[in-house]
Amino acid sequence: MELREAGISDSDTLSALEKIPRHEFIPNSFIDQAYENIALPIGNEQTISQPLIVAIMTQELEITKKHKILELGTGSGYQTAILAKLSRRVYTIERIKSLSNEAKKTLDKLRLYNVVTKIGDGNLGWKEQMPFDRIILTAATKKLSTEIIKQIKDNGIIIAPMIINNEKQILKKFIKINNKIIEKNITDVKFVPNLSGIIA
Ligand code: SAH
Repeated sequence: MELREAGISDSDTLSALEKIPRHEFIPNSFIDQAYENIALPIGNEQTISQPLIVAIMTQELEITKKHKILELGTGSGYQTAILAKLSRRVYTIERIKSLSNEAKKTLDKLRLYNVVTKIGDGNLGWKEQMPFDRIILTAATKKLSTEIIKQIKDNGIIIAPMIINNEKQILKKFIKINNKIIEKNITDVKFVPNLSGIIA
């Protein structure tokens, strides 16, 4: 109800959020807050995103069952699970090994077998699997990498939290049309930073 009142109207998005048990993605110490509309710590100084933000990003991606999606920043795997419900396949990259492994376990437990996880730097994308219908970044970045822009299909959508003037962040929607990128602001957000390098 809260999500609906906040402007989430896409029924597929709402039903995916309803079906995925968020408590499965949250450490035991915070489990009693699993269904509150807030971000929560998942270890390694990272957070599971706020459900409303997950819903906005999902709705703006305009996903169909035919889509192949690239996600940068697996984190807990919660957003990954929502994407997996709505699309054909999700390729998800996380730079912190322990988070990637934990997310994989949870996704397997929920029998979401159309997800492929990888430990790596998401800014490089996933060359072997390109091009993608949709790309989502769940860590804030100053600039989309050329690899990411190369790996999205024509008419594809990228959703990403962008850092503006080193201070605020705006969630942006990018659409590639005839090899040109058109962008639109969605809402102010606060994400952890996009960092390079792998943590084993
Ligand atoms: N949607 C996730 C949010 C995870 S927070 C959830 O709901 O759980 C963002 C994640 O992006 C963190 O786990 C962080 O380690 C990861 N990350 C940051 N920069 C990255 C990069 N360059 N490549 C891959 N993962 C990255």
